[in-house]
Order: sequence, then structure tokens, then C-alpha cells
Amino acid sequence: MNDCLFCKIIAGEIPSDKVYEDEQVLVFKDINPHADVHLLMVPKQHIVSLDELGPEHDDVMAYMMRTLPRIAKDHGLDDGFRTIINTGKGGGQVVFHLHIHLLGGKNLPGFG
Ligand code: 5GP
Ligand code: ZN
Repeated sequence: MNDCLFCKIIAGEIPSDKVYEDEQVLVFKDINPHADVHLLMVPKQHIVSLDELGPEHDDVMAYMMRTLPRIAKDHGLDDGFRTIINTGKGGGQVVFHLHIHLLGGKNLPGFG
């Protein structure tokens, strides 16, 4: 039994507004956007957080980093974008399936 919300979204058991999908990752719109563009990139394999990473995750993590700029450009973020990864309760993580927030456009929250 996997009770993970994002695993259910990946499996299509819970609907989401998908914007990109390939063999390794899914990208969908955050249900509660904090900027004009607010997407979540998740690995299709269940990884809890950065705290749980092992060497077996090196490839998918590098793949996500390399794929993010392409997704950002596809959403008109030619000037740049912000990425956020919340890790653990103390880091504000609410969903315990590793995800990268991709934010851009107007109303960009956070640093800077
Ligand atoms: P965290 O705080 O764990 O880094 O971020 C979790 C994010 O998931 C939040 O920004 C929240 O709005 C988003 N979220 C929570 N539940 C759902 C859902 O059912 N669908 C979508 N698309 N986003 C969700
Ligand atoms: Zn999961």
C-alpha cells in the first residue's frame, strides 16, 4: 500500500494538470500557485526527500536539474526562474515525495 499523494498523481489515480511527462519525471501545476508559473517536478520513482538520497538516485537527480530549464522556457520563462526544494518538516515539506518547485513570472516569492 502506497499512500503517497504524488505517487497517486503519477499513477493517474488522482487528477492533476500535467504539463510534461517522460519515463523519469512528471511535471504538473501546483494546486495552490504562489507565482504566475508554479509547477512541481517529481521523479516517477518514490523518493521521500533530499534526506533519503543515495548514489542510486544520482542519475535521476541530475536528469531533473538538466530538464528544468527546458520546462521553464516552455512556459515562457526566458528571463529565468526560481527552484525550491523543501526538505523535512523543518524545511516546510508537506508532501513526502521529493519535488522541485519551479516558479517564475510575476509575484515570485522568496529570496531576491
Ligand atoms: P511542499 O510544501 O511539500 O514543498 O509542497 C507541496 C506542494 O504540493 C504545495 O505547494 C501544494 O500546493 C502542492 N499540492 C498539495 N496537494 C496537491 C494536489 O493534490 N495537487 C497538486 N497539483 N498540488 C498539490
Ligand atoms: Zn510517492
